[in-house]
Amino acid sequence: MDCGDTIKCIERFVNHDLTPREMEGFLDHVAECQDCYEELETYYTVAVTLHFLEKNEEGNYNIPLRLKEHLAQERQRLRNRKILRRCIGVFLVLWLAGLVWFLISVQLPAIYAFLPFGV
Ligand SMILES: [Zn+2]
Repeated sequence: MDCGDTIKCIERFVNHDLTPREMEGFLDHVAECQDCYEELETYYTVAVTLHFLEKNEEGNYNIPLRLKEHLAQERQRLRNRKILRRCIGVFLVLWLAGLVWFLISVQLPAIYAFLPFGV
């Protein structure tokens, strides 16, 4: 993701509206690019301040820290998602291997009957 794409995604990041793939590119870019991070921090500060004023809520007014926590949470969410996908993949492979083993073992007598040399 380049600077132009990152700047376009800032509002959607603040509104929790990025796809996981977009989020990964966005997080990688703002971790490396100081200009985009500063742009994000400015937008985030305005958005959070307006939210507090509109809702008349108490909250964490250390907005730069709040942004860092938000970025860390999103990074962790992506990690959890990758772990879950890997677990599902491993489960599916094991399930498929079990199914193949079951089908072969059920059909084994029929397979033996066709073998010319007899087992
Ligand atoms: Zn940038």
